[in-house]
This record gives sequence, C-alpha cells and structure tokens, in this order.
Amino acid sequence: MKGGYTGRILSFDLSLNKAKVKNLDEKETFLLLGGKGLGALQLYRSLRGKEDPLSPENPIIVSTGPLTGTIAPTGTKFSIITKSPQTGVFLDSNCGGMFGVQLKRAGYDMLIVKGIAEEPSMLIVDENGAELRPCRLWGRTTFETIGELKKEFPDHGFLIVGPAGERLAPISGLLTDDARSAGRGGSGAVMGSKRLKAIVAGGRRPIEVYDVEGMKRAAWVVRRMLRLHEVTARSLPRHGTVNIIEAVNEMGALPTRNFQKGRFDGASELSGEKWRSSLWKTDKGCYGCTIRCGKIAVLNNTWVDGPDYETIWAFGPNCGVKDARTIALANYLCDAYGLDTISMGVTISFLMELYEKGFIQELDGLKPTWGDEEVFLRLIEKACNGEGCGSMIEQGVARLSRKFPGSEAFAMHVKGLEMPAYEPRAAKGMGLGYATSDRGACHLRGYTAGQELLGYGGGVDPYTIEGKARLVIDRQNEKAVIDSSGLCFFAFYAITLKELYRMVVACTGQPYKDWYEFTRIGERVYNLTRLFNVREGLSRKDDSLPSRLLNEPMSEGPAKGQVVELEQMLSEYYRLRGWNENGEPEKETLERLGLRELLKTNE
Ligand code: SF4
Repeated sequence: MKGGYTGRILSFDLSLNKAKVKNLDEKETFLLLGGKGLGALQLYRSLRGKEDPLSPENPIIVSTGPLTGTIAPTGTKFSIITKSPQTGVFLDSNCGGMFGVQLKRAGYDMLIVKGIAEEPSMLIVDENGAELRPCRLWGRTTFETIGELKKEFPDHGFLIVGPAGERLAPISGLLTDDARSAGRGGSGAVMGSKRLKAIVAGGRRPIEVYDVEGMKRAAWVVRRMLRLHEVTARSLPRHGTVNIIEAVNEMGALPTRNFQKGRFDGASELSGEKWRSSLWKTDKGCYGCTIRCGKIAVLNNTWVDGPDYETIWAFGPNCGVKDARTIALANYLCDAYGLDTISMGVTISFLMELYEKGFIQELDGLKPTWGDEEVFLRLIEKACNGEGCGSMIEQGVARLSRKFPGSEAFAMHVKGLEMPAYEPRAAKGMGLGYATSDRGACHLRGYTAGQELLGYGGGVDPYTIEGKARLVIDRQNEKAVIDSSGLCFFAFYAITLKELYRMVVACTGQPYKDWYEFTRIGERVYNLTRLFNVREGLSRKDDSLPSRLLNEPMSEGPAKGQVVELEQMLSEYYRLRGWNENGEPEKETLERLGLRELLKTNE
C-alpha cells in the first residue's frame, strides 16, 4: 500500500484464542476505500445469510479509513460493522474517540473478532499482535471500566460493552475511551454474546501518507474551510449538535410525543444557548478535530457528557420532558450501562402512548404519562438494570409492539430500529431515507434534513416528493464515502467530497481517474450493503414507514395535513438505483459497479 493504510487486517477467533494476520487487498481498497466499505465486504464474506446475530459466526468488525489517524482534520472516525441483533440485517456505526487511531498505530487497518470466549475477557491489540485475557470488570459500568483500564493502559483506545450488552439487551451499544458511543442496532449485545468486555488497542507505529506535501496542502484547505463556515466555526463548537433544535421545531419537524405532533412548546428551553448557560461547562473534541462539537456538563458535582441533539430530542420532546437536568442524567445512565439513547427514548415514548391509549394500566406500579420526569427516570433506571419492566423496555419498540396488537401504527421504527429526530411528514426526503437506510431508521444514512429543513447546501421544498429520490440517493452515496474514509460527517457542513477526494488521493496515492470515479465508491458501498440485506430476506415490504406517517395527516404546524407518499418515491428510488421493483440490485448495476466480480456473483 502506498499510504494511509497499514496494509494489514487482524482476525481473532475467541473460541480458539488464535490470531491471524492477512494483507489488505489493494484492489478492494481502491473500490471500497476503507471503514464502512471494506467492513461491509468483510461482513458479506464472513456470513452466508440467516445466521443468528448472537452466534459465534457473526463477527464484530472494526474498520478504519485511510484518513483515520492522519493530519486530515476530524480524521478520527472508524466503523463498527456486524449483523444486528435488533434488526437482523446489516449494521454499521461510525464512531469517534481514539480507538480507530490507536488500532492503526498498533499496525492494523481492520480488526475482525469472531467466536465466543470461554470466560469474560478483554482483547489487547498492540504492535506485537493480540492477547486474550480474563477480565474481572464484567458487570461494571462503562465508566468504571474506562477508569480501571486507563490505569493499566493510559495511552490506549478502548471499545467497551456495558452491563446491558453483557445481558444481550437488543438496544445495547458500545462506548469508546472518549465516551463516544456506537449506540444503534445492538452491537453491544453482539460483543456481550462473545463474552468480550473490552477491546484495548494501542501502539506507536507511524501512519505513513503517500504525498506528504500534497496532504499538508489539502488538509490546510480543509482546516481553513472549517474555520470559515458558520456551522463548523461557531454553531457546533458553541452549541453542539443541538444548535438546530429551534429551527427544526419552527419547521414543525421536531417529533413530539411519539410523533403525534411536530412541535414542542418547550423547545426553546432545550436550545444550545440554554444548555450552554446552564449545564455545559466545557467542550470536547475527537482526535484532530477543531470543531469540538462534544460538550461536558456538571451534574451533581460529576463531570458528565453533554447529550447531543438526538438524545435531547429522544428524552425531551419525544417523551414530553422539558427539564435539561433530567435529560442529562438519563443520558449519563444510558452511557454508563451501554444503552442506545435514541432507542431508549423512543421506546419510553411508545410506552407513554400505550398508557395514554389504555393498552397498559401501569408498569411496576408506575404510570408513564407524558412529561412525568420522575417516572421517566425510574423507567430509565429499570432498563439500565434490566429489572422488572426494564427487561421489556430494553427489547425496543418493534418487539414490544408485538405484545400489543393494534399498536403497530404508532410503533415508530423501520426494520426494527427506532426512528430518529426528524418528522418525515415535514421533510419527505427524510422519510424515504429512513425507509431505505441500510440499517433501519437512521438520519445519518441519507441526511436530506440539511437541505429540506435548514437550508444547508441549497434549500429544497420539504413537502414535495419531486426530486427526493435523487436527493436521498446522492446523500446516501455521499455518506457511504465519508464513512469509508475516516473523516467526520460534520466537516461536510463546510467542505464537499471534492476536498475529501484531494486528501484521499494525497494520502493513499490511489489512481482514481477523476472525482467522479471516486464518488462511485458510495454507490458501490450502498449496493453492497443492499446485497447483504437482500440475502437476509429483505425486500420492498421492509422499505417502509410506520402507518402513522403514511396515513395520519400531521395535525398542526407548517406541515399540517401532510403524510408521506412513500410508494411513489420508492419506485423512483429503485429505478434510479438500478434495482428491480422488489428492491434487488439488477445484474447490470452490479456489473457497472464492479461488484459482480468482487463478490463472484455469477448469477
Ligand atoms: S465534529 Fe464532533 S464528532 Fe466530529 S470529530 Fe469533531 S468532536 Fe468528533
């Protein structure tokens, strides 16, 4: 490899306590770049379809990008890829913190862990290879675990599972050394099923780049653009990701009370300015990041992570909660026990609506009513401990809904993954994006909200369905390239794929013909994850939205009367993607993208 990559993949079989190293394939890096792309290929090849996500065969793959750990601004990201126990389909989480950087410094672009350890263990990866050790921290919270690990490994990166993942909660995630979470889809349960409490990585190998001067120039341009753009220079550093909450609310796109409405009358109390003047005490950033969107709050004399926009929404407007302290405490508990905050908030809001509609009369003596902060926190605590009704909450909305026939219409998930913080009736591209996202309802797989609601990158009409299929495809492809590169998505408020392309070429020396050839990586990755999902049995009927969004017109606000006309958008989406009416990629599409040869799919 010329630069950017270490050129090595480390595989570890926990059942055999055995490591294997193989070389990265140059052609595959050219076609899929790294991160999500190469991880998706590895997952596709590791499984044959229909395996139990909690079986030893299902790997946890940690995949870095060529820019991870380089001087590229925000070059900190890596992807965690596995088959999701929550959805049964493809799962990738893009994550910050030091883990990806340290994995590369240890000498590996990718780590593949499969099998099941004999006893609770941790895996140490360094320049000498990998070592499996018994772990006495099983049962401890993520923060306790980080504290203990830091004593022995002060310079390493960690990937940790909390007590929720240990007991295989479907909505459990993973936490890094820097309290950055890979929350969605149940990667915590996959790691818990392997009896792996932590992966520790670190080393001192330099990360070489192909064209040092070219890389410095390209990185300098990006750094300058980040410093000049309103969002990356001011909004995100000052107010974090919640900087958008009032604008989204004004557009009637802030889902409230389990998507019953699109406006929350306490939104201004949860604005970035309010958080800044009350609980937030300082900022934090990932490796190599000048944006520093992370916030630190002080709660009961303890320094805790300030929640992000999605979490503030899930616990706040979506459950009717207005108090910032309650939200911050709930966020802290979920991080400590390793539970996904979006899934948790949406599951509790679903319970609140079940109660409101008379499906349930109480939960362990608690009456889950909108905005009751005390009950809200009790439910969070119960879910964290898996106690009483908590063992039901940690299952997530889709499984819970099956217990209450008639509740499907307001069970807010797609493919089993709970919906995030943008109301699709007020931003129809987001609706199509949720329906076609490769990991279930996700705002970060085709983020059209920037254009539909916030006017970034050129505003578009949020209510029309015209042109939305193209918009969603472009955003999905773009995000797939970003998640394969090692750069943070938030940088793309200020820069475009052109700047990314220049950094990747300088870093790797890959001979892309032009920028267009480079951008096709995203389309290739998205088709690859689709092939994985089709092999798992996914089809058109799964690319859907909850009935509430399709059939219940929005009751008030700017989007009053709107529903999502999904079927029309979906047919156009499939046609533009080169997929058949059932959502399967056509042979010609796979041929054009080089995927048939890559996967040896002859028929
Ligand atoms: S913008 Fe935020 S998430 Fe992205 S690299 Fe910087 S601190 Fe991390």
